[in-house]
Amino acid sequence: MIPNARPQDAYPDTIEPRNPVQETTTSGRRSTGPMPVSIRPATLESPKVWLRDVSLSYKTESGSRLLALDQIDLKVRQGEFLCIVGPSGCGKSTLLHLIAALQKPTAGSIMVDDENVTAPGTDRIMIFQEHGLFPWLTVGQNVEFGMKMKGLSKAEREEKIRYYLRLVHLSQFKDRRPHQLSGGMRQRVALARALATEPAVLLMDEPFAALDAQTRDLLHDELERIWAETGRTIIFVTHNVREAVRLGNRVVLFTFRPGRVKQEFTVDLPRPRHLEEVDVARTAREILDSLREEINKSLEAEYGYEKGL
Ligand code: ADP
Repeated sequence: MIPNARPQDAYPDTIEPRNPVQETTTSGRRSTGPMPVSIRPATLESPKVWLRDVSLSYKTESGSRLLALDQIDLKVRQGEFLCIVGPSGCGKSTLLHLIAALQKPTAGSIMVDDENVTAPGTDRIMIFQEHGLFPWLTVGQNVEFGMKMKGLSKAEREEKIRYYLRLVHLSQFKDRRPHQLSGGMRQRVALARALATEPAVLLMDEPFAALDAQTRDLLHDELERIWAETGRTIIFVTHNVREAVRLGNRVVLFTFRPGRVKQEFTVDLPRPRHLEEVDVARTAREILDSLREEINKSLEAEYGYEKGL
């Protein structure tokens, strides 16, 4: 039995960082920490992100249409950590691409703060499994990149580079190049780079799938801490149910193609959580029972697998 939903006011609107940097505003006032995300009531009546009856079909090589997502209606609260799980091919990545406006839905609409999303923007940043750092730039320059695109002044960029590298514990590595870092460190640079543009929504597509278990555990801890400190809204795709329970306030389970919302689970276990905890394992088991049916369908479709063989 999964515990009840957290009270709505339990979701952070804005959270000041524990070790805020000082910033000077244009009015000369001193303010703390990263730019606050817009303050909105944390309710599903006014969601941060709202997918309204979103469908997407791809044109296949044979010219037919493949329905990847079918009438997704999903609301994500301000400051929520939402995890999406489902078998391979259920449209998880496609969904993130739609929110980032890297693709357009065939039907339906995507709203952020009640506004239709029509183009990519620095308010919605994606982080992928392959971190996509620029190898010719230093760590600091990689973190700076998005801020340059956003037109921030040199002084602001320097301040935020310092702040976000400290947040991911990489201050001493500012002048290194990505090839001089471990996989986990590179992923932390990618996280700092994404956070530095201060997006309202972080879209994470299996960001830790290629990492060894120990590094992944550490990054879970760091991501949870950063989420709590910055109050960002996170939509995190994974095929790893335990990871979803470890991190999410809510886990949304998708059906195999076409992707539809099959079930939602509110995870109200105390934080910080650990992958090996009994309660995490038990909750994951419950979700996995529901996911198994979809995994079987995906295996049948991908490999012609027949049950019992
Ligand atoms: P997931 O991330 O859950 O594995 P995807 O979003 O990558 O799923 O893909 C959903 C479905 O859409 C899959 O069946 C995939 O093969 C198909 N698909 C994804 N991208 C394309 C594309 N560009 N053209 C045709 N089919 C695609």
